[in-house]
Amino acid sequence: MSTVTAVQSQTVVEWMTSLAEDVKAQADHLTQLDAAIGDGDHGINMNRGMAAVLGALEQQDDGVAPGKLLIAAGRTLVSTVGGASGPLWGSFFRGVGRALGDAPEPDAEQLGEALAAGLKAVQDLGAAAPGDKTMVDALGPAVEAYRAAVAGGGGLAEAASAASEAAAEGAKATVPLQARKGRASYLGERSVGHEDPGAASTVLVMGALARAVG
Ligand code: ADP
Ligand code: MG
Repeated sequence: MSTVTAVQSQTVVEWMTSLAEDVKAQADHLTQLDAAIGDGDHGINMNRGMAAVLGALEQQDDGVAPGKLLIAAGRTLVSTVGGASGPLWGSFFRGVGRALGDAPEPDAEQLGEALAAGLKAVQDLGAAAPGDKTMVDALGPAVEAYRAAVAGGGGLAEAASAASEAAAEGAKATVPLQARKGRASYLGERSVGHEDPGAASTVLVMGALARAVG
């Protein structure tokens, strides 16, 4: 079923292009989620960041390794997005990229290790634990599902599709949680009953990956 057996530079370009399109289409939705428990800028932040990422990728020479492209994407998010999500998503993509290193065509297993490194970078920076009602509640299950699929013999497409489904479930599961990190935590119990915006953007990140490798 898997159509792509390795991550190529073009795969990263497709991942980021697809994500930018989705973020643009969902910007109002992300912003509404953030308006409920934050400051209503998450869609704007992600949209600005992803537009800048596409611009930065266009500047890259042909033949640059996938990992290097992801590092460039991450660096761009850190420098163009003011909100918490810029440095956090920037750290994620940089972490994934650094773990992939110079490998010209990393395979499904290498991408799994790299996604885990990206998750670790997010947690090192933001110190969010599972259950704190953040992007970690979607990203953690996504990385776990990805790696479980690969451990079970699945290829890139199967693993990324499992990650995408797990992210969606994780995001839904943030609704009843009380936020313990980020702006939403200022609301205390009033943060209960709303989906976390960063968890919702995680669904877009994983969905775009699944499309890029599917
Ligand atoms: P800001 O909160 O600065 O306005 P955004 O609205 O762009 O930034 O992003 C908010 C999202 O960032 C939250 O929904 C949450 O998922 C994520 N977030 C905030 N703080 C943390 C943290 N410490 N660790 C992980 N994710 C976090
Ligand atoms: Mg915000």
